[in-house]
Amino acid sequence: MNDSILVINCGSSSLKFAILANAGQETLVEGIADRLGTDESNITFKFEGTKNTLTLEDGSHKNAVTHIKEWLNERPSIEQTLVGIGHRVVHGGETFGTSVLINQEVLDGIKECAQFAPLHNPAHAKGIEVAFELFPGLPQAAVFDTAFHQTLAPEQYLYPIPMHFYREHHFRKYGFHGTSYRYISQRLAQIVPGSDQQGVLVAHLGNGASTCAINKGQSSDTSMGITPLEGLMMGTRSGSLDPSLLSFISQAENISADAALDILNKKSGLLGVSEISNDCRTLEDAMMSGDQRAKLALDMFAARTAKHLASVATTLDSIDHLVFTGGIGENSGYLRQSICDHLKALNIRIDSNKNEQAPRGETLNIHSENSGTDVWIIPTNEELMIALDTISLIKH
Ligand code: AMP
Repeated sequence: MNDSILVINCGSSSLKFAILANAGQETLVEGIADRLGTDESNITFKFEGTKNTLTLEDGSHKNAVTHIKEWLNERPSIEQTLVGIGHRVVHGGETFGTSVLINQEVLDGIKECAQFAPLHNPAHAKGIEVAFELFPGLPQAAVFDTAFHQTLAPEQYLYPIPMHFYREHHFRKYGFHGTSYRYISQRLAQIVPGSDQQGVLVAHLGNGASTCAINKGQSSDTSMGITPLEGLMMGTRSGSLDPSLLSFISQAENISADAALDILNKKSGLLGVSEISNDCRTLEDAMMSGDQRAKLALDMFAARTAKHLASVATTLDSIDHLVFTGGIGENSGYLRQSICDHLKALNIRIDSNKNEQAPRGETLNIHSENSGTDVWIIPTNEELMIALDTISLIKH
């Protein structure tokens, strides 16, 4: 065992972590500290096939990282192999186009980008500060969800609004899920050498969902915008809609624009339409039992995903590959089939048997022989990408 990296994904009320060894190839331990900031917070370690949950004394991020450090102290054979810490950071703005080693200037930059990710970036900054305090001397890297999309051309990333908003406030499309898209692009190039010189569409479909076009290994368009609200319909987010609705909703409910925005972020999407759940599995079960609201929500999700795949495809010369990833993309045969049914005009066709029988967690091609595009299921691995970036930054 060597070159272990502690990967931290610090949210406002949770902290996910994993330790990856041997150039990211082996996950030694993973876990989550949940309900941070409340007196019911706890931390779970998944190690050697068993889960162990401990109560956190004060529910702070620092307490969570202290527990990770104590866990390592009890296992010196693992602790000694730790060479760095990699942090997932949601928003890197226009400042960060690649992963970087963290110093004070980088930390300040992450805090500055908080204007567009007010819940996430301050939590990431806190996680970084706590990690520096508890693991002094260990190099730390920041890996940004937005960085992969910094290759978009201005005609794709600018909004058609008065230009001074961009000049003075940096209001533009940033896009997210970039670490996942970068992983998928590299993984596909391992499976299909040369695909990094082709046109690739990716649908990252999880509770948050987006699409991306990757032209010769670089992001050329993506569906999310200045925040993750734009684009597809998601678990609880509406995705793109006529912005006038914001004003109509706030007038109809007599609430502020921020409260109306909250409805679009937290009460819409699969949850809002189905009035049952934001969870795809729950909705598929409900649909199987005949619930029409669940079916409508899933069918809307499929239609909108297809629309946003076709939309980002306008930046490609050819659609050589379509990849499904994320919890829904990797597991929902119903939605993959339905999305591809909407894409027949692009000559994208899947083999129903391969699609339905796809084993969980495996990389697989599911296109039919007459498809113009190769269609894949590829499980994403953002933790691996973060660990690899951290190792490479430390070694150079
Ligand atoms: P993620 O945010 O990537 O973890 O994905 C979470 C979403 O994946 C939730 O909506 C889950 O219901 C969905 N999901 C996970 N497993 C399955 C499954 N076997 N079938 C359908 N959806 C699933």
